[in-house]
Amino acid sequence: MKKKALITGITGQDGAYLARFLLKKKYTVYGTTRTLKKNNLRNLSRLNILELCNILQCDLLNIKQTNQIINKINPDEIYNLSGLSSVGKSFIDPLDAYRSIIFSTVNILENIRLKRNKTKFYLACSSECFGNILSGSATENTEFNPLSPYAVAKTSSYYITKNYREAYSIFACSGILFNHESPLRNDDFVTQKIITGAISIFNKKKKFLDLGSINIERDWGWAPEYVEAMYLILRQRNPSDYIISSGKSYSLEKFIETVFSYFDLDWKQHVRINNKYKRPMDLTISKGNPNKAKKYLKWKPKYDLKKIVHEMINDKLKQN
Ligand code: NAP
Repeated sequence: MKKKALITGITGQDGAYLARFLLKKKYTVYGTTRTLKKNNLRNLSRLNILELCNILQCDLLNIKQTNQIINKINPDEIYNLSGLSSVGKSFIDPLDAYRSIIFSTVNILENIRLKRNKTKFYLACSSECFGNILSGSATENTEFNPLSPYAVAKTSSYYITKNYREAYSIFACSGILFNHESPLRNDDFVTQKIITGAISIFNKKKKFLDLGSINIERDWGWAPEYVEAMYLILRQRNPSDYIISSGKSYSLEKFIETVFSYFDLDWKQHVRINNKYKRPMDLTISKGNPNKAKKYLKWKPKYDLKKIVHEMINDKLKQN
């Protein structure tokens, strides 16, 4: 019997890569989306897997609809990746962040609880829950200190998942993922904005790139590698939470420099700081310790910052 996986948020960066990975593992893949519009399915088309996935429209905030879809599929595994994924946007529309991240988690876990079946559950949790990591790197035991509506919502979902695991013995786990990028990263994220900006400057279409805080540090990884960790988390004998990170942290300045030096450009002549792009509160330093994942999942990231940046640039150039 082929295993069945349901991926909420299948149209996003991680959803598309996870779907491709699970198809290679011979799963039957189902996915939910808020809208079946062609443009919203472009990531699946880009990976040539749209026809191989079963895509269903579903409002995960609607418990009746959520139950209908899950009951019809009866999946072995549910990967809950849907919801607002931008920290910046969560400051503009906090209600949307809370609803889309928290309610979907509760609705899915309620379905598993009431059916008392063996469906395994994965939550896409985030390094943003930790807030600033001022010394060393975060482990699974580091206290959470969320600094944005997005992070508050992810922290709530983390504890909801833990509660269902402990109270009802459901195989429910959180992957606490640090930033991960790829050519499928949404264009409104700063990493894609930097790449698009540098290409326009190189092509003499514009002279400057306006950014918010560039002295922040992030622990960046490669999305196709990170989705493999999601699958491995559900393969363990016992359910648990895992940090998925590279273990190395770089400033956004370093990211910018890596992008601009690809084009032999001096970023200092082209990047301007614009307060308009600063957030009410920003996480300055983020760094995760992936040792638990290395030890138990046997998972290890291979891509470094330069390789991530170059793959993203090459892809953008191909598209232009
Ligand atoms: P993404 O590309 O934005 O995909 C998320 C998907 O969720 C979207 O394709 C969208 O699907 C749905 N969605 C977006 N906004 C929504 C909203 N307001 N309400 C309901 N659904 C919404 O995100 P991703 O990078 O693949 O990340 C996947 C998950 O991992 C997210 O939960 C994200 O928060 C989390 N995460 C990501 C990172 C990272 O660095 N990428 C790090 C840590 C955690 P439809 O439009 O088809 O409904």
